[in-house]
Amino acid sequence: MTARLQTRAISKHYDSVTALSPTDLDVMDGEFLTLLGPSGSGKTTLLQILAGLVEPSGGSLFINGKDATHTAAGERGIGMVFQSYALFPHLSVWENIAYPLRMRKMDKAAMTAAVRDALEMVQMGSYANRLPRELSGGQQQRIALARCFVYKPSVILLDEPLGALDKKLREHMQSEIRSLHKDLGATFIYVTHDQE
Ligand code: ADP
Ligand code: MG
Repeated sequence: MTARLQTRAISKHYDSVTALSPTDLDVMDGEFLTLLGPSGSGKTTLLQILAGLVEPSGGSLFINGKDATHTAAGERGIGMVFQSYALFPHLSVWENIAYPLRMRKMDKAAMTAAVRDALEMVQMGSYANRLPRELSGGQQQRIALARCFVYKPSVILLDEPLGALDKKLREHMQSEIRSLHKDLGATFIYVTHDQE
């Protein structure tokens, strides 16, 4: 069976700083892989390389067995939820979540339904018209999750996505993420420093 994602000796350095030592990874289709490591161990760097946002210094990446080391981010079919949320500051919550659907030219009725479902999933239905700066950190993180899940990418990278949430909401989102994994049949890589 061919791995969905595979790295061979993939690495990254910034001048003299080693951000990621040579890493071999095999992630099978539909797998839910969790990577646990302390702050500074290269977790974010690895996800950025997989998503195509950072060019590796060495090694190779294969997607479905094909060399994708230099494939553009937009052509990889990989969604990422960033540690820093990365919401568009000038767009409302609704428009932030609709953005990936507009890029894919989804029709209006389907888009409205998909955005509504994504907002419900993260319990943010009444915040559709707010701007990101009018939300708490935890609320912004929920919108970042909704914006990734709304277009149902087949590979989803989650970079410490629950860090800013309080315990109750974190547990809710953990079970939401698990059931999304089941429903979507997508491949998930979940990165955390939280041993719990
Ligand atoms: P983690 O996500 O596990 O906390 P990172 O992948 O963010 O770790 O960082 C790994 C190491 O690489 C850290 O020492 C960090 O300071 C360094 N690093 C990450 N990005 C850069 C960058 N753009 N320039 C210089 N050093 C970086
Ligand atoms: Mg990180």
